[in-house]
Amino acid sequence: MRNTQLIRLFDPWRSSLCTCPIKYSFDPYTGCSHGCLYCYASSYIRDFHNCRPKKKLIEMVKKDLVRLPENSIISMSNSSDPYPQIEKELKLTRICLEEFCKYPIRLLVVTKSDIVLRDIDLLREVGAAVTISITTLDDSLARKIEPSAPPPSKRIQALAKMSEEGVNTGLRLDPIIPMLNDHDIRRLLAEARDAGVKHVVSSTYKPRFDGWRRMIHVFPELEESLRKLYFVDGERIGRSWYLAKNARFKIMREVAEECAKIGLSFATCREGFPELHSSPTCDGSHLTKIRQRSCKQYLRF
Ligand code: SF4
Repeated sequence: MRNTQLIRLFDPWRSSLCTCPIKYSFDPYTGCSHGCLYCYASSYIRDFHNCRPKKKLIEMVKKDLVRLPENSIISMSNSSDPYPQIEKELKLTRICLEEFCKYPIRLLVVTKSDIVLRDIDLLREVGAAVTISITTLDDSLARKIEPSAPPPSKRIQALAKMSEEGVNTGLRLDPIIPMLNDHDIRRLLAEARDAGVKHVVSSTYKPRFDGWRRMIHVFPELEESLRKLYFVDGERIGRSWYLAKNARFKIMREVAEECAKIGLSFATCREGFPELHSSPTCDGSHLTKIRQRSCKQYLRF
């Protein structure tokens, strides 16, 4: 049967490595305009780089919200970004936030865009936590890895502004790509901490076929070494290639230790190392605020 809901139970392809709490997944847009080389969503979404709003978006969100159990966690977004460039004009994510404000849900926003700052008023109202993905502090390297996303300097500023305004924030240091962005992690964590971030979730690069082709097209000099790390020494899990377990563990443990040193909680994403986690949830859901008023109470006002 065709799934007619837009706010759906999060299904990480039944991955045994996923440690996420039970939550709902919601993408206001199909596809994404940021063009990240490492993106895996492009491997299963048709015409991925043509970012377009979901059909009947607002109508369906209204219907789905009525059916949602109280205090459900909604993660927005997992297969796109809720703040692509066109959101500036269309304001659809903002309209969805207005709807979320009417219900006792917990909202986790995942983005790479500083457009999120426009919605601080509603994010505060809904008690949202915002996690921003940053893979490097180097704006020129980021232009190659994530060509159409806002530069990391703006993302750090966005984190600082939101923290200042009372929105709980987290950093997604995701993915760490060997030999590309694995050298400056300490400084990135320190800047995130100074920007008010409370939690870090991180993972290593896990190529799929189309993302791999984009990666070696832009960084041909890394092809040989990455090929060995992933396709000779590494392992295939589901539809992705992983580094060898000991190599992944070493990278994740270093990030975990650095986070502990500077007072940030830490978790990994689909790595299989829960022993490194120091937070109640991996994805930052624990940073969302539970609102007291029930849906009916809220709607009366
Ligand atoms: S922001 Fe996320 S969904 Fe968009 S291209 Fe980058 S990795 Fe893919």
